[in-house]
Amino acid sequence: MGTKVAKFGGSSLSEATQFRKVRAIVEEDASRRYIVPSAPGKRDPKDEKITDLLYKCHALAKDGHSFLEVFARIKERYQSICTELGLALDLSPEFDAIEKAIAAGASADYTASRGEYLNGKILAAYLGYAFVDPATMIFFDQHGQFDAEKTQAVLSRELARYERAVIPGFYGSSPDGQIRTFSRGGSDITGAIVARGVQASLYENWTDVSGFLMADPRIVPNPKPIREITYRELRELAYMGATVLHDEAIFPVREAKIPINIKNTNDPGDPGTLIVNDNGSIRTPGSITGIAGRKGFTIIAIEKTLMHSELGFGRKLLSVIEEHGISFEHMPSGIDTISLVIADSQLNDKLEQVLIGIKRVCKPDAIEVVRDIALIATVGLGMAYTPGIAAKLFTALAEAGINVRMIDQGSSEINIIVGVENKDFEAAVRQIYQAFVPRDPDK
Ligand code: ASP
Repeated sequence: MGTKVAKFGGSSLSEATQFRKVRAIVEEDASRRYIVPSAPGKRDPKDEKITDLLYKCHALAKDGHSFLEVFARIKERYQSICTELGLALDLSPEFDAIEKAIAAGASADYTASRGEYLNGKILAAYLGYAFVDPATMIFFDQHGQFDAEKTQAVLSRELARYERAVIPGFYGSSPDGQIRTFSRGGSDITGAIVARGVQASLYENWTDVSGFLMADPRIVPNPKPIREITYRELRELAYMGATVLHDEAIFPVREAKIPINIKNTNDPGDPGTLIVNDNGSIRTPGSITGIAGRKGFTIIAIEKTLMHSELGFGRKLLSVIEEHGISFEHMPSGIDTISLVIADSQLNDKLEQVLIGIKRVCKPDAIEVVRDIALIATVGLGMAYTPGIAAKLFTALAEAGINVRMIDQGSSEINIIVGVENKDFEAAVRQIYQAFVPRDPDK
């Protein structure tokens, strides 16, 4: 029997009823030995996450205001979970210690981490699992960077001592013993680190959706779920805006070749999405895995006669945007043309300066700026080495009268990116979806 690591997100542990579902899930499969909880999330859309309330406490205390009213709400949430679950767990010494620490100027990281810490205490008591504090086995270096090597060594050794344990997500400690957190949503990372450390056969990431969908349901009605996706495909889709999992959570498990299963706590029977290593096997040829995209890009198109034979032209061009601290997303090129596709969030108000710089350094014949561009990535291993994919995609867009302003196909052939006007974004995503995803006969 392999070992599974199960991470439960904030919505899976927001209140007592959710804790009951979690216990049923854990008890249903004895290989779920290491459990990583987030802090309690929202119970409804208007509710507040415990982590946000804790950050609020820290900010109030820092500004010399009283944080006790907010802290009372936090205590009340945990208390009611314990009461409703019938747990004889007295958290008051913990609450007192945390309150004192915040009043004495504890860091934001320490304060926020208590959300996971307290939830871990409750979950461990409720499951009858050991509680193991990640401050003793997840480490950051003196620059605040996660120390993978040290963590791996200590964590594997530590957890080998426990048959079953709950390890709170989101935080670890730095060399001076202070608590440090990962970035927001970081319990996903903890889960991945634990999975790697115990050499799990599977990392289960339990949330409130049944995995990834092939497209954004706000754009495409009832998109099909993605049952299986490779790390590479996921990387491409996530980069373009598809999110369910923290980006950095992928690396530890990917390296260790451990699959991730995104599952739904509210619908545990649904298989969810399985994220696997690319084993080189070609999927159904011609199929796609998903579509994702984002609005808000600018294209700077540069033309210069004999550009292709001018030594160092690309370097000069890139040096201009580098000087302005701007990174680019894509750089499609023709014989005597080259375009830079830049996110507006990068460009901010620097466009004029960048254009002046390009004119001075590159001496182009013409520069054209196209604003309000959306990028759409169509991703799938099944697209590689399959003739007709591009034709299908562009026919679908042409049929809807959508003008394509930019095309970029990575050499790996698992991704075709098109740039369309922002106003055509939704229609373009729907067209591509309809072209590639066969309709269910009964719908
Ligand atoms: N509780 C933390 C947050 O809200 C970490 C997590 O949930 O993964 O960001």
